[in-house]
Amino acid sequence: MIYLDHAATSGVCPEVMEEMIPYFTKYYGNPSSVYGFSDISKKAVKKSRALLADVIGAMPEEIYFTSGGSESDNWAIQGVMTAGQKKGKHLMTSKIEHHAVERTCAFLEKNGYDVTWLDVGEDGRIRMPQLEREIRPDTRLVSVMMANNETGTIQPIAEIGRLTRSRGILLHTDAVQAFCQIPIQVNAMKVDLLSASAHKIGGPKGIGFLYIRRGVTLEPLIHGGGQERGMRAGTEFVPGIVGFAKAAQLAEKKRREQTRKKQMLRDYLIERVVRAIPYTRVNGSRRYRLPGNVNLSFQFVDGGALLRMLDMEGICASAGSACSSGQSKPSHVLTAMGVPKELAYGSLRLTLGEENTKEEMDVVVEKLTNIVGQLREYSSEYRQMISGKKEGIAPRRKGSL
Ligand SMILES: *Cc1c(COP(=O)(O)O)cnc(C)c1O
Repeated sequence: MIYLDHAATSGVCPEVMEEMIPYFTKYYGNPSSVYGFSDISKKAVKKSRALLADVIGAMPEEIYFTSGGSESDNWAIQGVMTAGQKKGKHLMTSKIEHHAVERTCAFLEKNGYDVTWLDVGEDGRIRMPQLEREIRPDTRLVSVMMANNETGTIQPIAEIGRLTRSRGILLHTDAVQAFCQIPIQVNAMKVDLLSASAHKIGGPKGIGFLYIRRGVTLEPLIHGGGQERGMRAGTEFVPGIVGFAKAAQLAEKKRREQTRKKQMLRDYLIERVVRAIPYTRVNGSRRYRLPGNVNLSFQFVDGGALLRMLDMEGICASAGSACSSGQSKPSHVLTAMGVPKELAYGSLRLTLGEENTKEEMDVVVEKLTNIVGQLREYSSEYRQMISGKKEGIAPRRKGSL
């Protein structure tokens, strides 16, 4: 198997697993209990919180554990907006957010809040002049993701932060894809709330955090016991928290070296595919891009069929986000970037991880060339194009922006 879907999830590495196991079997005490035995769990949570805070330049008490990226996004947006209703009911987000942000904003919109949905350019980035123009006196929150899960496009968060901070507006960023992939400093970037998740960086599924800058007020999303300083109820997932911290530590230690390696493989794969397969387009900015993200569109090809055929060859890939695959709507991210429908339907996301090799890239190019060729043979539009009755809209060669 060749696994090229690291933006969907990653495996837990043995070192992380080893760190977690004792907290399932031996030190299972509830951190909220009073006896000495549960102090071991309490200390483990405390240490993990400090380690994770350090990765983004935050203070330990600004880190709140959650069940993952989705909960962190829901909490940040709903928590801020419901806490400050008198101060305003307007928030801004982009058209390319993960569904966890998009649908939370849509939910608020349905319930009497005003949402401005910012456009993105062909490169997938928001435009600062539009953001500045759309700010209103009642704007409370801007939520723009740090890096996109489909195209890997990195947003100008520090620039956004300078603007929002100067206007007294809070900034939330979904950094689930960016965390441990690119350097993040919440203070320098002037970020007020930040979402992260463990399972995208080699940690377990079902654990994440929300960074909340000291002094920011928001309502809890999960009500109940007094855990997380009364802000997020529920017995802590201690082994998960420990595993999350270990995974982040390992990922940060290897980040520079991994960035170079992934960028090299990414660019190698893109160049080879674009040279081997005509009518291919590279989606998203080439410059502001996560090191391990490849997003391509093949004209005259159905993305779903392409994924199934790659699967038969043992290659795990994605058409976009895991949540939208299986649906017959083209990706809202590619659509917002102005990718024509025909190309959005034929899109493929390949995301690299630590274990991927150049040899695997060669196999992928070979299989992809064959499969795209086969699928195009069945396409009547492709045959029309070949016989001169229809134009190819993706570039014949060199599909990059
Ligand atoms: C995966 C992902 C999420 C959701 O995180 P979970 O921990 O799976 O809930 C949110 N935002 C982005 C950008 C993601 O890639």
